[in-house]
Amino acid sequence: MLAMFKTMFTLSTKLLTSWSETLFPRTCPLCGSLDESYICDPTTQQGCCAKCKQSIQVISKLACKQCGKPLPASLSPGPCGRCLRKPLPQHETISLFAYKGAVRDALLAWKLQGDSRALDWLLDVAKPVIADIFDKHDVLIPVPMPLARMRKSGLHHSADLSLKIAAMVGCKVNWQILRRSPEQQTQSFRQSALSGLARQRNLRKAFVLANDYTTKLEAIESNVKFWVIDDILTTGATLRHASLTLSRTKHAVFAFSFARAIRN
Ligand SMILES: [Zn+2]
Ligand SMILES: [Zn+2]
Repeated sequence: MLAMFKTMFTLSTKLLTSWSETLFPRTCPLCGSLDESYICDPTTQQGCCAKCKQSIQVISKLACKQCGKPLPASLSPGPCGRCLRKPLPQHETISLFAYKGAVRDALLAWKLQGDSRALDWLLDVAKPVIADIFDKHDVLIPVPMPLARMRKSGLHHSADLSLKIAAMVGCKVNWQILRRSPEQQTQSFRQSALSGLARQRNLRKAFVLANDYTTKLEAIESNVKFWVIDDILTTGATLRHASLTLSRTKHAVFAFSFARAIRN
């Protein structure tokens, strides 16, 4: 009798699954297409279409540890020539994905339209890697944005990203220690809109520590790692300058970006 019930239950579950997939076919969580080549991991039930899957490039661990620049296996973990000539203030730089294809589309949908569904899906897929990078005792510090730009867009992307990661790892976010310098608070343009040289000049004095940072640090154990968090690493200058300012706290500083621009 029990065996018969079990068979009936399995059969009805299978029927319901096939009906629901006919009535509500799976759409790709990244591009929204009804692609027949939808690829699904049977264990996690996570999947996307073949076209998106093909366009996602995970950043290799074969890289210069300091700046995160991909390196051949024989030269990894570096330091690369540039870091040898001029060591960076951060101990490590880690990025999850190359800024292209479905990852670039996910970031643009989030930053320009406020739609974080694709980004959240990518973060969810990368959860085991994220759990491996961060520790629950670490403190995440979003790259501060000029107030004028924040007021204009109503969003603070590095802070939003930091909160999403902190919720996964169970660590803290701190946006009180690192600040944008007062003369930059009124800038409403994007760093990326500037030429290389102007960008470097602009970033040199972009960040400051809060006036009362020593008091704020009293609440944090001295051996806690600080992670500067940004959404996209383009030249690495933003993370470098933010890390340099933060290194004055004497905490070990690390840098993280969700995506990294890769030059072929
Ligand atoms: Zn897709
Ligand atoms: Zn390097």
